[in-house]
Amino acid sequence: MPGKTKVLKKPSRTISDQSYVVEVMKGLGVTLKHFFQGTAQMVSGNVPDAVKNPLAEGIATISYPEQKRPYAERWRGVHRLTHRDDGSPRCVACLCCSTACPAQCIYIKPGEYPEGDARRGYERYPVEFVIDELRCIFCGFCVEACPCDAIRMDTGVHVTAFEVKSDFVYDKDKLMSIVSQHGTQNSENTRHEPGDAGHPGIDRLHGGH
Ligand code: SF4
Ligand code: SF4
Repeated sequence: MPGKTKVLKKPSRTISDQSYVVEVMKGLGVTLKHFFQGTAQMVSGNVPDAVKNPLAEGIATISYPEQKRPYAERWRGVHRLTHRDDGSPRCVACLCCSTACPAQCIYIKPGEYPEGDARRGYERYPVEFVIDELRCIFCGFCVEACPCDAIRMDTGVHVTAFEVKSDFVYDKDKLMSIVSQHGTQNSENTRHEPGDAGHPGIDRLHGGH
C-alpha cells in the first residue's frame, strides 16, 4: 500500500535574502570585528588565556604550528641512531630494520671494524645508513625489529618540510646528530660491549672459541 506523501512548503525568502548582499556584509562584519579585536589585543599585549593556551581552556582549535598539542610519549617522530658511550653507533649493521621496512626506504652498507678492535669479526658497523624520510610511512617496524636499540623514533619532531627532495634522505651523520625529545643521543638500555664482564652473549673472550 503506497505511503502518504507529505508536501513541505518551500520557506519564503525576502529579496534581501535572495541577493545575499546583506548576509555577506554581516559575515564580513563578524570577520572584521574579530580581526580588529585580535590586533588590538596583540598590540596591547592583553591576549586572553584562551588564545595563549587554548588546550588548557578546553578549546579544540589551536594556532598550529605556533601552538602544538603535546604528543604521547610513544608518538613516532623522525628517526635517530643511538650512540654508544664512545660516541660510535650502536647499530651492528644486521639489516633487520631494512628487512622489516615495508616501504623499503632504509639502505645500509655494512663494514668491518678495523684490525685490533674487539668488535672486528664479532659485529659490523654501518658504513652508510640512509633513510628516505619521504618514502617512510612511520610504521615503527624498524624500531621494533632492531635487536640493539640502535634506531629510535622518540625524537618528538616531524620531518622538516624541505624544498628539495634529496634533503629528505637522511644519512648516517644526520641520523646520529638527532637527539631524543629528552635531549639524549644514547639509549636508556645499557649496552655491554664484547669483552665486558656484563656481556650477556657469547664473544671471543667468554664463548669458548
Ligand atoms: S618507520 Fe616503517 S617505513 Fe619508516 S623506515 Fe621504519 S620500517 Fe620503514
Ligand atoms: S639499526 Fe638495528 S636493526 Fe637496523 S641494522 Fe642497525 S642494529 Fe640492525
